[in-house]
Amino acid sequence: MDGMKLADLLFGNITATREELLARYPRRQLPEGAKVTRFAPSPTGFLHIGGLFAAYTAERVAHTSGGIFFLRIEDTDKKREVENGVSGLVNGLKAFGIEFDEGMISETEEIGAYGPYTQSQRKEIYQVFCKELVQKGLAYPCFCTAEELDAIRKTQEENKENPGYYGKYAKCRSLTYEEIEEKIKAGTPYVLRLRSPGAANRRISFSDGVKGNIEMPENDIDVVLLKTDGIPTYHFAHAVDDFLMGTTDVIRGDEWISSAPVHLQLFDVLGFPAPRYAHISPIMKEDTETGGKRKLSKRKDPEAAVDYYHEVGYPKESVLEYLLTIANSNYEEWRRSNPALSREEFPFSLSHMSKAGALFDLAKLNDISKIYIATLDADTVYDAVYAWAKQYRPDFAEKLSSDSGYAHRIFAIERGNEKPRKDLAKWEDTVDYTDYFYRRPENPDFPENLSNADMTEILETYKTIYRADDSQEDWFPRIREMSEALGYAKAPKIYKKDPDSYKGHVGDVSTVIRVAATGRKNTPDLYQILQVLGEEETQARFDSAINLLKARG
Ligand code: GLU
Repeated sequence: MDGMKLADLLFGNITATREELLARYPRRQLPEGAKVTRFAPSPTGFLHIGGLFAAYTAERVAHTSGGIFFLRIEDTDKKREVENGVSGLVNGLKAFGIEFDEGMISETEEIGAYGPYTQSQRKEIYQVFCKELVQKGLAYPCFCTAEELDAIRKTQEENKENPGYYGKYAKCRSLTYEEIEEKIKAGTPYVLRLRSPGAANRRISFSDGVKGNIEMPENDIDVVLLKTDGIPTYHFAHAVDDFLMGTTDVIRGDEWISSAPVHLQLFDVLGFPAPRYAHISPIMKEDTETGGKRKLSKRKDPEAAVDYYHEVGYPKESVLEYLLTIANSNYEEWRRSNPALSREEFPFSLSHMSKAGALFDLAKLNDISKIYIATLDADTVYDAVYAWAKQYRPDFAEKLSSDSGYAHRIFAIERGNEKPRKDLAKWEDTVDYTDYFYRRPENPDFPENLSNADMTEILETYKTIYRADDSQEDWFPRIREMSEALGYAKAPKIYKKDPDSYKGHVGDVSTVIRVAATGRKNTPDLYQILQVLGEEETQARFDSAINLLKARG
């Protein structure tokens, strides 16, 4: 059949040409070795931690090579779209400091010379290449209905044949121009299919950046290029966009590996050099029910949603640091040898990614985050906690800002010294962490090993000798002296040698003071806590504890 004539019939309105497009999307002039990567999500409004992981991986590959990283919105599937889905993605990624050089920067705006970066705005571009494929006899319209396709599937199932539109099943392959023209004139809906030059008994191979060498049967299916509405399928849009936009390395989820033969064939028939592929494995989670591993699931695991990390207040730095540890197996070792370097300086490499799927572990994220938060000064912590609280816990934000000096002093406890405490993993933890600073303990967790009378005696005595202006050095000796006078050993070691001669030891005494002041047995440095509470409040708390103990009898 005359391809030129058919192309005019189907795409008469398309006047642009390949040459014009190639001129509009010139090859990028980048230094040797520079990689161009992209993150290409559908605007579903939901950012999965696996998406952030893929985006960060692609960003690192581009930026550690001096290349370009861009964001392309793949909105060819209108069913998956939600309102403000693009800004949801853009803001979600921005909040984690993932930097794009090009692409969408808000719901409607974009930057960069290779746009539009939203597929629904590229309809004409795809059609230029479709028209060309039709001209060359490499694509044809298919009028098969859903019922007809169903019937084909059934026959193939019965015959135990490969599913799909190919070979003798591809009946629209052989329609004549006149038959096609008649259907088009009658307004019959059609899709545009590739006339696949492949054969299932031949094999293709390619080298995958993560998985290594992959060999698969060639594609022989006449895949759909344009759907009935003229919108391309993912496959076709991928080939056209990644070529025109100059992507050198396609980094995407490994659910796409099975489509790689189609994609390589499309690059081939379009006359485009194929990009390198790197298929990354999904993030896995230990499955407590089966003892095995499973994918981190949007439905079952709250931590699958990137929003979760914002809601509970993980600093972005902690999350990115953690993602690097699961992305590259040698990251932790590098971090140990280079504690002072920024994570950007790590030589990220796809070859160090897990082929099987990295295991996600919140406990590990918490450890990393605690170490990170411990390095921050009180002002930084206050600002971050306040910003988080304003959005997610306005009541707490109000508490903090009602006396911000006080809140700063709380966050300064055991911070900025050589061995800062590592007890905050996320900003949400600060609600409980600071709780006793904002209200007198109602139900102090008094120790069980001393009698109420002994504890009352400790507090009544301590009340008389407590001096708010004592220095940190003088503070504890005073408690030690008092302990001895009340019949407690001045050190745990002494007590252990001769427990019958003492009521307890100095640690027991300071626990009573700690519990009276804070309600808790474990807290940061008690001296600093009392300093922050101030003399009046400290004494009031001792009084209230004494009253509670007396009421217990
Ligand atoms: N839009 C595809 C998805 O949402 C992107 C795959 C790719 O990165 O090429 O999975």
